[in-house]
Amino acid sequence: MLIAMLPASFKRLTRRSFLRDTSLAAAWLAWMQRARAADAPKPGDAPPAKRLGVVLAGLGRYATGQLRPALQQTQFCKLVGVVTRRPDVGAQWAKDCGFSAKNVYNYDTMAKMADNADIDVVYVVTPNGLHAGHVAAAAKAGKHVICEKPMANSVAECDAMIAACRDAKRTLSIGYRIHFDPYHQELMRLAQGDFAPFTKMAGEFCFVMGAHEWRIEKKLSGGGPLVDIGIYSFHEACLAANANPIAVTAKEIPKKRPDFFTEVEEGIEWTMEFPGGATAQCRASYNENANHCRAEGAKGWIDLSPAFSYSGLKGSTSRGSLSFPPINQQAKHMDAIAQAILEKKDSPVPGELGRRDMVIMAGIYESAKTGKRVELKFI
Ligand code: NAD
Repeated sequence: MLIAMLPASFKRLTRRSFLRDTSLAAAWLAWMQRARAADAPKPGDAPPAKRLGVVLAGLGRYATGQLRPALQQTQFCKLVGVVTRRPDVGAQWAKDCGFSAKNVYNYDTMAKMADNADIDVVYVVTPNGLHAGHVAAAAKAGKHVICEKPMANSVAECDAMIAACRDAKRTLSIGYRIHFDPYHQELMRLAQGDFAPFTKMAGEFCFVMGAHEWRIEKKLSGGGPLVDIGIYSFHEACLAANANPIAVTAKEIPKKRPDFFTEVEEGIEWTMEFPGGATAQCRASYNENANHCRAEGAKGWIDLSPAFSYSGLKGSTSRGSLSFPPINQQAKHMDAIAQAILEKKDSPVPGELGRRDMVIMAGIYESAKTGKRVELKFI
């Protein structure tokens, strides 16, 4: 069985070892490569013994446009309910998706999920500032949790979320879909192997925001483009470096639309320093367009553009262009988490990883505010 192939270092994962042990990334990568081969159904394969019942909490664009269709492509998950402020919308989802109307909850009735054996996992897809409360409510109801990125608005919230899931003996996973995309897996493979070490990384993810939304309200978002889309660039740089950064230096990009971006940055750029001298230059903005990442070293380079989209990724390396068959990132992401839960293993994208990214973002904001280089401490 797939999970039985998990390397020993992965099985021993704890928060401290995860933060210290960069070889975990190598173990994870090896596991994913074997997982890809084992995933492919073979003639005569029996259907999976169990699919975990997943409830989507928050029925906005990502849940509706990506997760709902992805759940129709998963092998180990099925959509069994929703949490929504709108009972009429919940009832329509129940009808359209074929689950019981009793599985429609609102944010004040989540505790009642404790009595519902249909539900194994709650996937929190609400605005960032609400993640901590919704994750705690799901864990208290005895459910495993997947929480969208960014994990929360602060490191303290991340600690509380991790503690809530640990106390409930349930897993906490973060919505890091790119870990399950073959282009990004190729970057990780090269970072671990032929092209190691990458010494110079770059990443930029930007789009032009038109209408006002919660993403520019500080209380609900926790920050601007850094937390929403900049997180992809620096997360990727960490994968390429196969390490956590030791320091960051950042500056906010002067606002061109100060009347629109009143509570959060319009754009920000930052440099990350890694052990051994590798660096990453990153940029995120809500007022330009970009979607790219690159990692290079003495032995070769990889360039992805578009890098962070749900599909249609393109890329090349110093050996030539890359081409992988299309996959559904969200289905792969949810299936990998479900398999880990079914086999009682640690999540491939645990809460600790979300917390690590929160420490990095706090450092970037501190540097942008003070103008100083900020050293990062993860423990
Ligand atoms: P959205 O605004 O489209 O949806 C948010 C949902 O939360 C809505 O259904 C809304 O009704 C609900 N909600 C509950 N309480 C609310 C409140 N008090 N105020 C506002 N909305 C409330 O947002 P989205 O784009 O779906 O993003 C949701 C989460 O998913 C965010 O954390 C975002 O960062 C994440 N996301 C991740 C990806 C990814 O690729 N992994 C992509 C998009 C969004």
